[in-house]
Amino acid sequence: MIKVHNFSAGPGILPLEVLQQASEACINFDNLNLSLLEISHRSKNFEAVMEESKALVKELLKLQDGYQVLFLGGGASLQFTMAPLNLLRQEGTAGYLNTGVWASKAIKEAKLIGNTSVIASSEDKKFSYIPKGFEIPAQLDYFHITSNNTIYGTQIKNFPKTTVPLVCDMSSDIFSRNIDGNDFALIYAGAQKNMGPAGCTMVAVREDILGKTGRKLSSMLDYQVHIKGESMYNTPPVFPIYVSMLTLRWLKKNGGIEWIEKVNQQKADALYHEIDRNSMFVGTTATEDRSFMNVTFIMHKPELEMEFDKLTKIANLSGLRGHRDVGGYRASIYNALPLESVNLLIEVMQEFEKKFS
Ligand SMILES: *Cc1c(COP(=O)(O)O)cnc(C)c1O
Repeated sequence: MIKVHNFSAGPGILPLEVLQQASEACINFDNLNLSLLEISHRSKNFEAVMEESKALVKELLKLQDGYQVLFLGGGASLQFTMAPLNLLRQEGTAGYLNTGVWASKAIKEAKLIGNTSVIASSEDKKFSYIPKGFEIPAQLDYFHITSNNTIYGTQIKNFPKTTVPLVCDMSSDIFSRNIDGNDFALIYAGAQKNMGPAGCTMVAVREDILGKTGRKLSSMLDYQVHIKGESMYNTPPVFPIYVSMLTLRWLKKNGGIEWIEKVNQQKADALYHEIDRNSMFVGTTATEDRSFMNVTFIMHKPELEMEFDKLTKIANLSGLRGHRDVGGYRASIYNALPLESVNLLIEVMQEFEKKFS
C-alpha cells in the first residue's frame, strides 16, 4: 500500500489502527457476530460505548462533577443555534469574538435568536490574528469564542479570564493541547477534525447554566432533554460515536493530552520554522497567534504553485491546498498526523526551493 500523508482540513486524518478497529466492528462488533451498525443503541454493548466515550471526554478535558457530555447530530453548525437557544435569555445579550468564518457563522445564527454583540473582531485584517485587550461586559449571558480558526490558521493561546460563562467552539483543536475544561461553561466540537468521522458533535456543558432562558424549546434542540435521555433521547449517531471513542482510547493509551501536546508542538514548530526559513513561502498569520493545527502559508511567486503541487503529489502529500477564501496552502496537522509526515512536507519545501529559487 502506498502511504498517503493526509493533511486534509476536515474530515481529517484518523489513526490507522482506529480505522482498522472500526472496520472490524462493522462486521463483527464485540464478538457478537453482528455489525455495530445493526444492533440496538439500547443494547448493553452500545451503552458501554456511550459510557466509555463520555468518561474519556471528561477525563481528557479534566471535567469536574456538574458537567454533562453529549454526542449530538447536526454538526458543529447546529451548535451555533443550540447554544443561544439554550443560554441566551429573552432580554439578555450574548457576546461573540469574531475570529473567522466559523465564528461569523455562529454570530449570524445567534442574531436570529436574540441580542448579539460582537465584542471584538479581526475581520479588519482578514482574520489573520486574534484580537486582544478587549473588555468582556459582565452582564453578558455568555461569551462565545472559537479556539482554533480552521480556515485562516489562527488559534487562541490564552483564553479570556471572565466571570461570564465561556462558550467555546473547539471543533478543530479539541484534545490537541492541555486545557482546563472547567474554565468553560459549554464546549462543543464537531468530531471530524480531531476526534472521529463526521456525524457527531461532542457537547460538554455545565448543567447549572441551563434552563434559565424562559424559552420553550423543541425537544431535539434542548440540551436538558438530551441530558435526561443520557444522549440517547433519539437514536444517536452510533458509528461516529464509536470511532470517536476508539480515537480517544488511542490518545489515552499513547500518553494522553500531555503526550499529544508535545507532538503537536514539535510538528508545528518544525513546519513554521521551515516556512520562515524558506525563501519561497510566507506565513499568513500573526506569529504569536499561529495555529498548531492548521498551518497556512502562501507562495511569494504564486505562478509556481503548480510546480509545488507536482512535487507534493509525487511525495504522496495530500490535502494541502488552502481554503478557497485564503488561497495558497494549508497543512492541517491534526493529532493523528505523525511528525514523519510533517518532515516529509518540509523536505519537499526544501527541494522546491532548491529547484526554483
Ligand atoms: C468545521 C468546523 C465547523 C463546522 O462543523 P460542521 O460539523 O460541518 O457543522 C465549525 N467550527 C469550526 C471551528 C470548524 O472547524
